[in-house]
Amino acid sequence: MEGCIFCKIIKGEIPSFKVYEDEMVYAFADINPITDGHTLIIPKTHAENLWEISENNIAAIHRASIKIAQAIRAVLGPVGIAALQLNGKAVNQVVMHYHLHLIPKAADGSKLKMTEWELVPGDMDKIKDIGEQIAAAI
Ligand code: 5GP
Ligand code: ZN
Repeated sequence: MEGCIFCKIIKGEIPSFKVYEDEMVYAFADINPITDGHTLIIPKTHAENLWEISENNIAAIHRASIKIAQAIRAVLGPVGIAALQLNGKAVNQVVMHYHLHLIPKAADGSKLKMTEWELVPGDMDKIKDIGEQIAAAI
């Protein structure tokens, strides 16, 4: 897509450190890594978010995530990997080309803030009602 920086990365118009590539996906190192090994996996076909991307591309991204997570484990030996994916500017999606973040956590690394929310029990009636509405809309 015109003006999309991740489409430019796929075409090689913007340089990147490639980690993995196949027919459907491209994976590369994030230039503002939250931790060492922070990797982005993107579809080669432009799609902005979860509402736009095809099921095949989602499947390809997650298949690639297994390979890449295994390689991250082999190289960095993290104690965990956060897989994060944002949809919409309101939740801080900055690049409007679908991407899955893989963010490894090292044993001696600091906490991953985005994984540390407080667990506050919800209103059971509301949880049930909203769950039922979503289920009915599928
Ligand atoms: P978002 O908030 O949209 O989920 O995250 C976008 C990510 O893309 C950020 O982590 C940011 O560092 C990364 N990013 C933005 N521009 C570039 C770029 O030109 N090259 C690379 N490698 N990563 C980028
Ligand atoms: Zn794009």
